[in-house]
Amino acid sequence: MSSANLSFDSLAVHAGRADLSDLGVHVPPLDLSSTSPLPDIELGGASYESMAGGGHPVDGGGHVYARLWNPTVARFEAALAQLEGTEEAVAFSSGMAAMTATLLAAKTETGGNHVVAVRPLYGGTDHLLASGLLGAEVTYCTAARVATEVRPDTCLVLVETPANPTLELVDIGAVVEAAAGRPVLVDNTFATPVLQNPAAHGASLVLHSATKYLGGHGDVVGGVVAGSAAWAAALRQVRAVTGALMHPLAGYLLHRGLTTLPVRVRAQQSSAEKLVAWLQTHPAVRRVFYPGAPDCDPTGLVGRQMRGCGAMLAIQLTDGYPHAVQVTNRVELFTHAVSLGGVDSLIQHPAALTHRPVAESARPGADIVRLSIGLEDPDDLRADLAQALG
Ligand SMILES: *Cc1c(COP(=O)(O)O)cnc(C)c1O
Repeated sequence: MSSANLSFDSLAVHAGRADLSDLGVHVPPLDLSSTSPLPDIELGGASYESMAGGGHPVDGGGHVYARLWNPTVARFEAALAQLEGTEEAVAFSSGMAAMTATLLAAKTETGGNHVVAVRPLYGGTDHLLASGLLGAEVTYCTAARVATEVRPDTCLVLVETPANPTLELVDIGAVVEAAAGRPVLVDNTFATPVLQNPAAHGASLVLHSATKYLGGHGDVVGGVVAGSAAWAAALRQVRAVTGALMHPLAGYLLHRGLTTLPVRVRAQQSSAEKLVAWLQTHPAVRRVFYPGAPDCDPTGLVGRQMRGCGAMLAIQLTDGYPHAVQVTNRVELFTHAVSLGGVDSLIQHPAALTHRPVAESARPGADIVRLSIGLEDPDDLRADLAQALG
């Protein structure tokens, strides 16, 4: 059966496994080799040449060296590309390594050095751009200003939707139109390919912190970027030269994580929806940030761009920062920790932690806490929040 006919859930289970039958195995092998025996100088050299330029190994030429290619990671990449509906994907040692490689590749691919960054962004991304480490000139703006801010030397327009931590939705198609041909990168970490495929709306590049939902169990750090074969070659070239590799064990765990991604995301989303409905009526909560709330989605992107509202939410506390301290200290079932997207529920204070490096003018309020809803019984999660909110 051709994978083109398979539904998303079936693809999640079977993508990236085409070679397993021929190998005589049921699960993907974990290949830990740092080097590979060379067939001969000519073929090995040709394979090296191809991969150092961002290409695939040549037939019979072998993988040469683990910084150039790893079959376990390549299977995860192929699977993720299928779930995002792109030609290829390239995995990195972390989401930030993926972001760094993308910024470097965008510069070499377009010759430009100007980045338009739509705020709010993940604190680490904001920090990387503001640090000047990569030498790019950055204009921060809102989605509505992208058309005005792009320039002939703009090499990348960067956007995150739903945004972190305020869960505002950005119209990807509108940003792509405003970018007028410049490459648009969408950080799809919060939505996952289960709920949103940015490439279908014209994004050139789709980035994930695989550390979050793709892994889903809080035991892997990784990043991945999906896009065209040409972008993948540019990204692999950067990866081969700079060395921000995904470890094969991470690739193995992430590939396994994809098989349960649809059921995890839907179950977590269902619990989040129940908690949102309850939190919206709680006297200690001034405002709930969630894509399904009208002020997070004024133009109706849920249903059109996003297939559901997801399992991330944030709450603004009526009694401000002291109450945020109380709630994060008092939770028992929720873990007070950064990160998100795992099977267990987490709560954290963005202004003090994930968004600490962001310029004060763009930092989330001190009265906001962010919640990542896991797979626990939503009634238990509600009881925990009820006692923590006091
Ligand atoms: C965590 C995160 C990142 C960074 O990924 P790491 O794997 O921690 O390097 C990027 N974007 C978003 C939205 C994130 O949540």
